[in-house]
Amino acid sequence: MVNKILIANRGEIAIRVMRACREMGIPSVAVYSEADKEALFVNYADEAHCIGPPPATASYLNIQKVIEVAKESGADAIHPGYGFLSENPKFARACEEEEIKFIGPSSRVLKLMGDKVAARREMVRAGVPVVPGTDECVAEFEKTKDIAKEIGYPVIIKPSGGGGGIGMTIVANEGELAKALESTQAIATTTFGLCDVYIEKYLSNPRHIEFQLLGDSKGNAIHLGERECSIQRRHQKLIEESPSPAVTPAMRIKMGEIAANAARYVGYEGAGTMEFLFSDGKFYFLEVNARVQVEHPVTEMVTGVDIVIEQIRIASGLPLSIKQEEVRWNGWAIECRINAEDPLNDFVPTPGKIKSYHSPGGIGIRVDSGVYTHYTVPPFYDSLISKLIVWGRDRNEAIMRMRRALYEYIIVGVKTNIPFHKAVMENPRFVKGELGTHYIERETTLINDMRRIMEREKSLEERLSHLLEGKKRIAAIAAVTALARTYGVPYGQSTNGGG
Ligand code: ADP
Repeated sequence: MVNKILIANRGEIAIRVMRACREMGIPSVAVYSEADKEALFVNYADEAHCIGPPPATASYLNIQKVIEVAKESGADAIHPGYGFLSENPKFARACEEEEIKFIGPSSRVLKLMGDKVAARREMVRAGVPVVPGTDECVAEFEKTKDIAKEIGYPVIIKPSGGGGGIGMTIVANEGELAKALESTQAIATTTFGLCDVYIEKYLSNPRHIEFQLLGDSKGNAIHLGERECSIQRRHQKLIEESPSPAVTPAMRIKMGEIAANAARYVGYEGAGTMEFLFSDGKFYFLEVNARVQVEHPVTEMVTGVDIVIEQIRIASGLPLSIKQEEVRWNGWAIECRINAEDPLNDFVPTPGKIKSYHSPGGIGIRVDSGVYTHYTVPPFYDSLISKLIVWGRDRNEAIMRMRRALYEYIIVGVKTNIPFHKAVMENPRFVKGELGTHYIERETTLINDMRRIMEREKSLEERLSHLLEGKKRIAAIAAVTALARTYGVPYGQSTNGGG
């Protein structure tokens, strides 16, 4: 087993990893930027080292500095979390050279998966169905025109080294192609340092469904079923669930096996996710995320498998603690990403001081958070401050529980997207499980529903803020509980819970 783990990340995921370390009796080392001195994860860690100024390029992305701290503190493994250095083959390579265990796939596999065109080709070889498109990059216009014509419009042009939905351009017809090609190449070059782009068929309103994979150093690979992540804004996931209302048990077994076989085929070590678009009953491979994902807890809630502990075991050379035939899926889990952003102002980030923080509890609730009362959310990073995850025996129970929990969740001082989540949980199409990646744009009533909810709560929130200003804590607690009572949704709405 590894002896000491440095966590090269921040916020809720750093704490998530440290919790696993603590359960395994492994000391954890935090690295943090000057902006994160007061962050919860810095205090949670067994030891913490400042690695530089606030901008991520000067701290969390500084490979040399992170490795230096690992060596100085005697950490023999590094967990990269998600984002930052987590899928950076150069970082994995640097760890390999220093004989520090990178908790994730080898630099070779990271390089392969980071190049989306190469990954597509490899997946075709491994028998995985992919979105119709090219298995080479496209560059000059004439050739791209022929390829697009063959695939059939609409098409989508994507940076090969991309991520986070950045730079992807939808092209409706040939007239738009030249400009789209040029702009995607320009964004790819400035953002990812690589001008390579490729082209795929654009599916009109697919579901985003992904499979959780685990592979060990003994050549075993299993899947833990799927997550549905169709609720996205600007290609960023907001709400995820497991299982997917669209997947039947037979589909789960078939696609899960295809995904696990592909992981075995490429010699995948660690936790990973194979993302698919699902349209007209068919799956199409999108990409592999070679790391733990933000939404991993929904899988943990339904399978009982601690994905981070598995990652650490795998990195320590141990076999997977569970065999495919032992994996059981129990009930339904939903995750809402709680972001510090203003739902009434196009969801712009709202860093600032949290004046009061009260998180929900009770049966079936999990909160993975990186914040606390009086914590100041810094402006330099992602706006995700916590994840609210609920479990229920079926989808209906999970939705009712999520509604209840969202109304218990009180964050005063910074605006959050909680009202948006409340509106989604009450939305009839969501309740029916009729999802697609364009769900948010197409549910045109959502924003008004959210305003109505915010209006309903306004006077109570103002009272609460006022009481907190006056430090009348007892009265503030009363206001908090009153706010939870604004929860006005009738119980027992049925859903077509599905598969
Ligand atoms: P990134 O790695 O930049 O996040 P992905 O390839 O994973 O990009 O795609 C992110 C999201 O973009 C998907 O979940 C989906 O909503 C949309 N998308 C990507 N490719 C297609 C496609 N071919 N057709 C329709 N939507 C797509």
